[in-house]
Amino acid sequence: MEKKRDYYEVLGVPRNATAEEIKKAYRQLARKYHPDVNPHNRQEAEEKFKEILEAYEVLSDPQKRALYDRYGHEGLKAGVPGSQGSGFTGSAGFDLFTDLFDLFFGPSPASPRGPQPERGKDIGIEVEVTLEEVASGVHREVTVSRIETCSHCGGQGAAPGTRPRTCPTCEGKGEVRTSQSTLFGLFQTIRTCPQCEGKGFIIERPCPVCRGRGQVERKRQITVYIPPGVEEGMALRLAGRGHQGRFGGPPGDVYVYVKIKPHPVFQVEGKDVICHIPITMVQAALGDQIEVPTLYGKEKLNIPPGTQSGTVFRLQGKGLPYFQSSGRGDQQVRIHVETPVNLTEKQKELLREFGRLYGKEPKINQDKENLFKRLRDAFWG
Ligand SMILES: [Zn+2]
Ligand SMILES: [Zn+2]
Repeated sequence: MEKKRDYYEVLGVPRNATAEEIKKAYRQLARKYHPDVNPHNRQEAEEKFKEILEAYEVLSDPQKRALYDRYGHEGLKAGVPGSQGSGFTGSAGFDLFTDLFDLFFGPSPASPRGPQPERGKDIGIEVEVTLEEVASGVHREVTVSRIETCSHCGGQGAAPGTRPRTCPTCEGKGEVRTSQSTLFGLFQTIRTCPQCEGKGFIIERPCPVCRGRGQVERKRQITVYIPPGVEEGMALRLAGRGHQGRFGGPPGDVYVYVKIKPHPVFQVEGKDVICHIPITMVQAALGDQIEVPTLYGKEKLNIPPGTQSGTVFRLQGKGLPYFQSSGRGDQQVRIHVETPVNLTEKQKELLREFGRLYGKEPKINQDKENLFKRLRDAFWG
């Protein structure tokens, strides 16, 4: 059996070192020789690390340190609890690991952590608006089902006059650590506390209103402002208006999904509003002034003489507003010239007379490429 090195020597401290000095030395060495930070000579680091752990386990325990001071390694061999050969299992082992854990992962929660704040969830709602409302913007009242803090128990979940009790299983930490001794030292597994399910507290007499949840569902009217220029499928976010958080957590948001109702008169192309306006043959031929509906009221439109079916007039700035920006699209007025129907004898007579004067050939597009000419050339030579 190899000879054991002196524990003070291992930690590089004098025999009269204080507990604080020992701890400091241990931490420095543990950090230096931890096998995870020595991947190249892991084997050697492991040996060294075990030696350091063992030395610290003894020297950090006043009782064991006294035995060691008096009898050396022999003093620890028999009859002392927690000092048996394989063991880092004693009470010191726990602290040992905690120290190590702190060293690499930052301090573990020292005091009961209690319930952790939870952010409230978001609420999604759909709001249907008309094109007129898209043009102007609109305030809309909507009813939402919202989870809120129970006012009866103040969100604690415990019946008034009682308090939630710190969970005895995890002492409020919400998690339990189980230690396991291995060849290499002490290992801990951390898992959610089974008694309190991680909350860190238990409620013995639940609040009768929320049944211990600390939250209740309420119907709330909220006012949603739909700004001008919203588009189908857009989601507007109302920050902090969603479900309320638990244990002091912030509330969620409300997302308003915009749906646009089909309009009886207008269609939409991008930011342009389209309308189809029928005019009579006479209005088209002689010209007229007509009234056209827009999202912003009626507009006068001059139909010049000789207007053809399919002509598009633009009413500038009468389309939809740009979202969160200035300016608007146009309104396109698409003209349909109506062929006269249900004629009286007198009307027919006048049209025949007109026809004799006008001739049988269409008069528009009198260039070589006009449609009528090409048709005539193709079919009638
Ligand atoms: Zn309650
Ligand atoms: Zn617990």
